[in-house]
Amino acid sequence: MVSIDSWYVENLVCPRDYSRLMLKNDRFCCEQNHRHCYPIVEGIPVMLLEEKDQTMDLINNSIKRAKGELVDARAPELYLESLGISEKEKLLAVSLIGKTKIDPVVNVIIGATSGHLYKDLIGRLESYPIPELRLEGGHGKKLLDIGCNWGRWSAAAYKLGYGVVGIDPSLGAIMAAKRVSNSLNFDIKYVVADARFLPFSNKYFDVVFSYSVLQHLDRRNVELCLKETSRLLKDNGYSFIQLANKFGMRSFYHQLKRGFRESLNFEVRYWTPSEMVAAFNAFIGETSLEVDGYFGLGIQKSDIELMSKFHQIIINVSEALRRMSKIFSPIVYLADSLYVRSMKTLRLYEEVDIE
Ligand SMILES: [Zn+2]
Repeated sequence: MVSIDSWYVENLVCPRDYSRLMLKNDRFCCEQNHRHCYPIVEGIPVMLLEEKDQTMDLINNSIKRAKGELVDARAPELYLESLGISEKEKLLAVSLIGKTKIDPVVNVIIGATSGHLYKDLIGRLESYPIPELRLEGGHGKKLLDIGCNWGRWSAAAYKLGYGVVGIDPSLGAIMAAKRVSNSLNFDIKYVVADARFLPFSNKYFDVVFSYSVLQHLDRRNVELCLKETSRLLKDNGYSFIQLANKFGMRSFYHQLKRGFRESLNFEVRYWTPSEMVAAFNAFIGETSLEVDGYFGLGIQKSDIELMSKFHQIIINVSEALRRMSKIFSPIVYLADSLYVRSMKTLRLYEEVDIE
């Protein structure tokens, strides 16, 4: 018999029809006729939609693993098959089991999740780099972290006092997030889910946050995520979402390297600032841009002590430019990493059936 925290039963809904869910034969099923059922793995519901085109291959592996059809026997407890990492990285993760107090999966995926300045830290982390989230105090407000991976931003939001829910389509990443939050004694709820089809009722969240996630999706899928974000936000709620700026200095270098062709698969998709404002205005509401950082994506001042001297200089210059951008707004447009802040607009016509 599987068990599940009552929070999930009370708060999640079916992502296909938004009806309530109940436990049925060790799965999470629609309350009415059990039409849609979702597996539960170690207390975590896996609420992915098999019939949809998946945005990443690893999502199919999450679905297979949750059904017990695919298990990497070298370390079943790490859920390596659904992490989207290379064979070499899997071997490294296995070799780190029991060797450090840091989770082996986090120790390996740190370079992929946190950006290029973290590459030197792979396999050598001594603490969890929890960034500083530039939001006001949470006071128990509900925050959704879309594409949370191992949960560094979820942990940052929890420390600010938010009631945090983290979702990610990678079962392995969510399991790592759960292990990390357990070891830190943080009460964060994690769900395996797709940002386009989320298992929450309308107006459930005060804040929707996402970092280094939407930049990996094509425009059509980003639009689906923004529609979901708008649906989930309370009236007067807001979203705070990071994207890669087409005009950023390092972004320019990366686009140059690939000859300015369109992004493929999981490559970063660059948006111009005006494209960001137009799309978020249309789907969520009044939108403004803020600098996250310069010279790359994911650079965080809070992690400066983990970095080499050279990288510390980069971080300090980035931070100085970020502060300057608050006074001299044109340099916002040269930042590599931008935050898009959008206030949910009340759409009274939503309730009206036009036909
Ligand atoms: Zn259903």
